[in-house]
Amino acid sequence: MGLKLGGISIRGIIGELGNCTCLANFLISNLGFLVARKDMLNITMTDAILRKKTPTTEQLNEHFQQLDVEGRFRLLYENFDTEEVLVTSSFGADSALLLHFISRVNPSQKVYFIDTGFHFPSTYIYKKRLAKILGLQVVDIGPSPDFYKMTEQMQLWKSHPDTCCFLNKVMALEALKSDHQVWVSGVMGHQTAHRSQLRFFATGNSNDSIIKCCPLLDMDAEKSRQYKLEHRLPPHPLEEMGYGSIGCQHCTVEGCGRSGRWAGHDKTECGLHLEDTIHN
Ligand code: SF4
Repeated sequence: MGLKLGGISIRGIIGELGNCTCLANFLISNLGFLVARKDMLNITMTDAILRKKTPTTEQLNEHFQQLDVEGRFRLLYENFDTEEVLVTSSFGADSALLLHFISRVNPSQKVYFIDTGFHFPSTYIYKKRLAKILGLQVVDIGPSPDFYKMTEQMQLWKSHPDTCCFLNKVMALEALKSDHQVWVSGVMGHQTAHRSQLRFFATGNSNDSIIKCCPLLDMDAEKSRQYKLEHRLPPHPLEEMGYGSIGCQHCTVEGCGRSGRWAGHDKTECGLHLEDTIHN
């Protein structure tokens, strides 16, 4: 079976690129190290989850079901040290929710922002504003300069958006994932059909040892709206202009929910949250 990272098979990417021989060769030579590293990773899910004698993911899923969202964050930090927890945020339309819980429960937690270099200027302003209001420790990460340059030169978001997301988002996070035990994300089930199938806790794809945790999974759109109002969380500036979800400028237009993401493409996820499915 071919190596898959972030739900995207490298073989598939190379195949998708068709006769782009230069790009294919570039990817093969630059991704080779990852194939080797992933082959060395043989940490089992059981080893990771039992590290602090915590229950199985199925048991954690059952516990989470009975807790409110803040209780879920508290349980998480009872079972994992801060430096074992990876938190990412896109500083988009719904990001303030997850970040508010983090600021309340564990303000010493680092929050990683994947800076593709293609975000709206207002996203950078919003990131700075939220970080100040909530007292967040935000760390920017991004793609390698070579990947970024190639993306710009080839305008990959137009011709190969899956590859573009893979190089600029999924790959940017890969090294960090292997340094952490659990990855906390703010995805919610109401956002897409795929996300509605996720569990609170799940393993990622078969090459990952990290456990994915989605404490906000059952917050619906109305609860989210009320929470933001109650806690006076500022909206992303583009929400007022009709953007329901906000990602890179090249791939975001106005629209309800995530309908404005990758408009015109058969694509609903960047790859970071694929394959966190229904297994325990
Ligand atoms: S969202 Fe668009 S520009 Fe951003 S990484 Fe994905 S395809 Fe590229």
